[in-house]
Amino acid sequence: MRKPIIAGNWKMNKTAAEAKELVNELKPLVKDAECDVVVCVPFTDIYAVAEAVKGSNIRLGAQNVHFADHGAFTGEISADMLLEAGVEYVIIGHSERRQYFGETDETVNKRTLTALAKGLKPIVCVGESLEERETGKTEAVLKAQIVNGLKDVEDITKVVVAYEPIWAIGTGKTATAEQANETIAFIRKTIAENFCPKCAEKVRIQYGGSMNAKNAHELMSMPEIDGGLIGGASLKAEDFSIVVKM
Ligand code: PEP
Repeated sequence: MRKPIIAGNWKMNKTAAEAKELVNELKPLVKDAECDVVVCVPFTDIYAVAEAVKGSNIRLGAQNVHFADHGAFTGEISADMLLEAGVEYVIIGHSERRQYFGETDETVNKRTLTALAKGLKPIVCVGESLEERETGKTEAVLKAQIVNGLKDVEDITKVVVAYEPIWAIGTGKTATAEQANETIAFIRKTIAENFCPKCAEKVRIQYGGSMNAKNAHELMSMPEIDGGLIGGASLKAEDFSIVVKM
């Protein structure tokens, strides 16, 4: 009942020329995909990729959006700027933004509310650190990130949640399929209890963290996992297309 969504997070990789090349390679490989296919590209690649994906089933995403309409926010990008450039999805609150750029549940919440109000589809990232997992704080951390990060969201079904354990991002360490499934079930329960039980069944929750061509099948066969947010493996057309076809 939930359509899976596989999104590539290119992070700070690919110039506009390289981005165009990667998307052109990807298009024929994913054209028959049964899931939603998204590439979240650096800001400078957006116009080139918007042009390259025209007429294909690949959707365009960005990696951040500011909550203000415009103003003195050096280095930030507004929802209107993204929309005019053809962006449909936006990653919000990635752990690298939280870790290196001071993103908090409060700013995640403001960015998410703005994205929704403007008609962008937010992919909101949550996840615990290794220390938090090892000290039994995973559920408390995730609950706070969901409840505070999604506060005042009226239609939670418009949000895609990405569960990304920080210890699994870019490390080659994947959560086991059972661990990921169980934690995502907890996130869904948290959404049901704090937002709306019926909607929780409709919210798409991805797994992210060293997901690749080799482990995607096992992860994607779990009932709670509705797709993936893919970092490293999204930078190679062949690898990303294998994940998309799982
Ligand atoms: C990510 O950054 O969202 C991610 C999941 O990265 P990787 O797949 O490289 O672990």
